[in-house]
Order: sequence, then structure tokens, then C-alpha cells
Amino acid sequence: MANLEPVQLSGTVVKRASLHNKDQMDLLDIHIGDYVYVEKGGEIIPKITGVELSKRPADAQRPVFPACCPDCGTPLVRDPDEARHYCPNQESCPVQIKGRFIHFAGRKAMDILAGEATVEMLWSRGYIHTLPDLYSLTREQLISLDGWQEKSADNFLASLEASKQVPFERVLYALGIRHVGEQTAKTLARHFGSIDALMAASRDDLVQIEDIGGTVADAILAWSASDAARDCVERLRAAGLQMAVADTAESRLSDKLEGKTVVISGNFSISREAMKALIEAHGGKNAGSVSGKTAWLLAGEKAGPEKLKKAEKLGIPVISEADFRQLIESE
Ligand SMILES: [Zn+2]
Repeated sequence: MANLEPVQLSGTVVKRASLHNKDQMDLLDIHIGDYVYVEKGGEIIPKITGVELSKRPADAQRPVFPACCPDCGTPLVRDPDEARHYCPNQESCPVQIKGRFIHFAGRKAMDILAGEATVEMLWSRGYIHTLPDLYSLTREQLISLDGWQEKSADNFLASLEASKQVPFERVLYALGIRHVGEQTAKTLARHFGSIDALMAASRDDLVQIEDIGGTVADAILAWSASDAARDCVERLRAAGLQMAVADTAESRLSDKLEGKTVVISGNFSISREAMKALIEAHGGKNAGSVSGKTAWLLAGEKAGPEKLKKAEKLGIPVISEADFRQLIESE
């Protein structure tokens, strides 16, 4: 990633641009302080496509690539498929461990009230090292954190408790297995139904699933074979996390939203992920954008003006959280 002098480019201010990898940087022969050509394609982050050599300062230097991880000092390894370098010290590189906690606690994962600052503090105090350690944190340890009071500790503990109801597919995503994103986790959860079945799967079992390629299969196999993964899964299971798909009849609360597609926008009394789960539990489907197929736009506080406008244009009913609750709780 390159940091640029901010520049206005088709309607937005561009401050960063993608350089892809070292090969691409060598190809462009990029120097620090260069004037560059930037292109905005379909991606969110614009790309650097060329260098204006006539504007290069005489003393411009090539960027130096670190040979070792700046965080733990382990020599970096080049990923042959992706032409990028990474730190192979997965089990004890602090940045990677902290990153794993932040991912695990994320809203699309376990939805635990632990952002970067909290993870940093818990880590530096030596309270957490592997993911299951979160579930052994005590109220006293939490209250002792800088700026924490009883209320913040209780909120945190409540979010940990609530995470025990997070469905298996999100637990699987939260584990942070390489190449297993949100969608892949869903596919795997549906196919295997439990962590035990997934961990017992062979390469053939994996690659025959639609959307699972060799790279993903190999990443899963490498993960399942590691003692660290097995230990992590067993301790999370003991903590009460969902390690299998819940019986659908059990997780289904009603059919009141059967065949209805709901778009949500804004903030609600519960997290957005919990709201989506509630919609699904009543038989409804979630969609990210308003279209002719949308049954309702469920608008919370600070709902997106674009979505509201679109719903109005298409004549899609906009309902509040209170309306929605009435709808699902009606006899
Ligand atoms: Zn490292």
C-alpha cells in the first residue's frame, strides 16, 4: 500500500493506493517520493499504474523491504501463489495473535465487545494468549484494566456470554482459518454440520464441495492437523460455543417472515448481526440492498438515506424496529 498526498479523483479524495506486491513494485521501479499515475477501477482502493519519471527527485530511494517480521523478528516467507511476504510465526507473532483476537471478536464473528485497544491491553497484561483464554477472564481482571469500570466489565462479560449462542457458521469464521472467509465458513458449516466432521474431512471430501478449491482445502487440512487448532476447538467447546449446526427446527422461531426479504439499515436495540439472525429465525431472508423483491426496509436509528430514498421510489414499506417486533410477535 502506498500513502499519497491526498488528491481529488472522480469525486473522492484518494490518500492511499494499491501497489499489489513486490513484483509489481519492481516492475514500476517505484521510488519513495515519486509522482505516480493512479487509476480508480472497480475496486475500493485505487491502483498505481505508472510513475512520472520527469518529476522524480534526484535523491529518491527505492523502498527497502524488511527481511524479517518487524514485530517478532522471524524471517519473512514469500507466498509462492500470491507473491507477497508474510510472517510464518503464526503461533507466537504478537501482531498475528492480536489480529486473531480482533477478528474473533468482530461483529460478523463472535460479536464480543473487544476492539483493538481492549485486545492490546488484555494481551500486554498477559491475560490472553490463545482464543479460549477470553472465556476465562475474570471480572476482577477486567475491572483492573485502564479506564474500565464495573459497567464496562459487565458489558464485556455479557457479550462473551451471548457469544455462546452465536451459530456454528460464524464460530467457524471466527476461528480465523486461512482462506476461510464468511461465505466459505457458511458453505462448510452447511456441508459438514459440525467442527468434528470438518476436521475429519479428507482433501477429496473438501474439494468436491462447490466453491472450495485446492488452496482453501489445503489451508483447512493444515489447520485441522495442528495441535494448536485441536486444543483451541476443545477449549472453546468446553466454554460452551456452538461447534455444530443447531437443529433447524429448534432455531426456527416462526414462519411469519417466510418468503419475505428484509433489508436492514441503521442501528437497533440489538446488534445488526443479531437482527439478521432474528429475521432468519422467523423464516425471512436478509438482503444488502433494496430492490423490487424487498418486502420491507427495516430502518433503525440513523438509517442510510440512500436506502430510504430507494425504498420510497420503489414503494417498499419502511418499518421501525417496534413495527418489526409487533410483526414477529403477533399471534
Ligand atoms: Zn511476526
